[in-house]
Amino acid sequence: MMANHHPSNETLRRFSDGTLKSGPRIVVAVHVGGCPHCAERVAEFEAIGGAALDEVAPVDMSDTAYEHLMARVDAWDGKADADTIAVPRRAELGIRLPEALDGCGVGPWRWIGPGVRWSKLEVPGDPQANLMLLKVAAGRKLPEHTHSGREYTQVLSGSFADERGRYRPGDMDEADSDVQHQPIVDATGECVCLAALEGHMRLRGFFGRMIQPLLGG
Ligand SMILES: [Zn+2]
Repeated sequence: MMANHHPSNETLRRFSDGTLKSGPRIVVAVHVGGCPHCAERVAEFEAIGGAALDEVAPVDMSDTAYEHLMARVDAWDGKADADTIAVPRRAELGIRLPEALDGCGVGPWRWIGPGVRWSKLEVPGDPQANLMLLKVAAGRKLPEHTHSGREYTQVLSGSFADERGRYRPGDMDEADSDVQHQPIVDATGECVCLAALEGHMRLRGFFGRMIQPLLGG
C-alpha cells in the first residue's frame, strides 16, 4: 500500500523533533508507520537533529531532554509494515485500529448526524488531545468549507475525495486555513478516519465541523 497523500515536510520535521502535540503526533505516527517514504523523511530529520545535538557539549543535554526523546521514540513503534493498520483490536468498534493507538482509551461510536459517527480517543497524559475516529456513510457529501486551524486526517478504511484528489487507506490529509474543499465519501462504502485537530481553534474542517457542538465550541 503506497500512500499518495502525505504530511507536509514541516509536520514531519515537528514529528521528528517532538514539537507536534499528542493528537497530531499519533495521527502522523500512524501514517509514518505505513509509509516508507515518510519514514525515510523522518529518519533524515532525526539524523539532522542528532547532528545538531552532537555540536553542543554533552552537559547541555539534560536528563529530562533524554527522557523526552525516549518517550517519543517509545511512542512511535517505527514499523513500516502495512499490517500495522490491520491488527484487530477493540472489537466492539467493528474496525481494526493501528498499533499507535494501543495506549489510548477508545469510546463507543456515537451518532452525531445522518450517516456520521465518531469515537473520542483518550490519550494518556493529555486529556486535552483532540483525537478521534470518524465513520462517515458512503456517498455522504460535506458542505464546502475552509479551516481555521490545521487538521490531520488519516484514512483507515474506505475513501473520500475533494478537489485535491482521492484519499484512500494510508493517505493523510493535512488541511490548514489555505484549504477550501468539499469532501465526498466514495459511494463504494463507508469511510473510517483517524483525525486530530491542533490546539483549540474553531473547528470547521471536514470532520471538525460535525463534532463542533460536542466539543462545546
Ligand atoms: Zn507518507
